[in-house]
Amino acid sequence: MRSAVWYGGEDIRVEEQPKPTLGANEVLVRVKASAVCGTDVHSIEGKFPLTVPPRVLGHEFSGLVEEVGAGVTRVKPGDRVATEPGMVCNACWYCRNGMEHLCLNRSMSPGAFSTHAVLLDRLLWKIPETMSFETASMAEPVACAVHALDLARMRSGDAVAIIGAGGIGLSLLQLALHSGAAKTVVSEPDPKRRALAQEMGADVVIDPRQVDPIAAVRDATYGLGADVVFEAVGHPRTSEQAVQLAAKAGRIVLVGVNPPGAKMEVEPYDLYARELTIVASYMRPYSLGRALRWLEKLRLDPILGPNYELGQTLQAIHALRDKVGIKPLVMP
Ligand SMILES: [Zn+2]
Ligand SMILES: [Zn+2]
Repeated sequence: MRSAVWYGGEDIRVEEQPKPTLGANEVLVRVKASAVCGTDVHSIEGKFPLTVPPRVLGHEFSGLVEEVGAGVTRVKPGDRVATEPGMVCNACWYCRNGMEHLCLNRSMSPGAFSTHAVLLDRLLWKIPETMSFETASMAEPVACAVHALDLARMRSGDAVAIIGAGGIGLSLLQLALHSGAAKTVVSEPDPKRRALAQEMGADVVIDPRQVDPIAAVRDATYGLGADVVFEAVGHPRTSEQAVQLAAKAGRIVLVGVNPPGAKMEVEPYDLYARELTIVASYMRPYSLGRALRWLEKLRLDPILGPNYELGQTLQAIHALRDKVGIKPLVMP
């Protein structure tokens, strides 16, 4: 078993690891496709405190079951699986009240920029023969988008604004269109990403450096603003802008991860006068199964790639940072 171990900053080294001995409910997965997430970029930039080096990064992956522990019955060697990262205690207040993503004893499962990863059997989801490993690696990020959509309480006919057309923004766009959005506006500075948003069905796609997003959203909504705004960048300025794009009674969902300590300015009177809801979306509780269904419906091929080998893990993370790709993949 070989893993790309991250030692902090840009220091990532491929190292031989001892083959793990499996606990009763553990499964050894041969990693086939492992997608780079924005939080992997934040990790190497020191802006994501949930990851502490040394560790193996990568949490969006699919693979083949290679070996199972004595108590595992849900999967068997040879099964193709998508995975749900993160371990919870099943005993704390939150776990026992339907909020296991907020578990007080939550820990990270081993990373997947590695030939193998060990996971609890309950974190594995079988995927159909017809689904590629590359597509299945999107189960986790799409599940995050599904959770954000749950929080948005969207109604049929809503106008939806999306700030940022990366992997999450473009997934949200497609999910919103399938879920009843009658008008969609996407704001994204990168021309390739804008073209994809257009192709995937957005009504209005703007470059925020050229066009004022507030004016664009008002133009598209009889001057009202968007019923639902998704912030999929993770920056305080775009978070503030998200509030400005909302219509009265609008729901603003912060999906992008801001660096800790970043501050956004909000005017409480404005929240009151327009009865706005600002909600942040954390992880992907109870949404991975639904995400797997969506994977067969969404257009994800244009989002995936380029592909890298395990030894090129740092290049793969740079490819996302430098916008060479939207979902670069490590294929260990
Ligand atoms: Zn992620
Ligand atoms: Zn718990």
